[in-house]
Amino acid sequence: MTAPVITMKQLLDGVEKYKANVRPWTQTLNRVDWFLLISGELYPLKYTYALAADCPPSTYSTNQMKAVLKKLPVEFVSIKGQKDAQSSFFDEVEAALKDSAKRQKRLKEASQKPAMRLTYQAEFIRNADVVAEVLVRAKGKCECCGESAPFLRSKDGSPYLEVHHKVFLSNGGEDSVENAEALCPNCHREKHFG
Ligand SMILES: [Zn+2]
Ligand SMILES: [Zn+2]
Repeated sequence: MTAPVITMKQLLDGVEKYKANVRPWTQTLNRVDWFLLISGELYPLKYTYALAADCPPSTYSTNQMKAVLKKLPVEFVSIKGQKDAQSSFFDEVEAALKDSAKRQKRLKEASQKPAMRLTYQAEFIRNADVVAEVLVRAKGKCECCGESAPFLRSKDGSPYLEVHHKVFLSNGGEDSVENAEALCPNCHREKHFG
């Protein structure tokens, strides 16, 4: 399938629509890895193309869209999210656990000065009122195990609990009081990593 050819003017119209929060479709993409660099600003490739070509963002693959867009004066930028970086690190830990003999050898030879990498993190903008309301509802007790908060915050003596979304926001869960619960750090970790 070939994506429809668009002009630079159409693409810039797409950019304007994107900036004006125009989203004429109901679906959203799971991941946004590729961006367009246009006049020093980054725009999500699929959304911008979709708004310019007037089609839902999942109609064409990134490569099909890039084949069209590379004829225009734009640059493609791929960004590695923190989640990807983290999950590939967990894979490495798992492999290292299974490989005791070589691990000892590698440890002896490894540099003890860690290298660095830059990552970005896209995050949902949460409603502070939801967090406040759920903390008031919990009255200082974990809404999962029922135990008191493990400590009080030194700055104001309020019980330390973490407000978690039962259906994760990343799975389309609502940022609402009904979908949120106040948890102790142990229960919260278990919900994410258990
Ligand atoms: Zn708990
Ligand atoms: Zn959580």
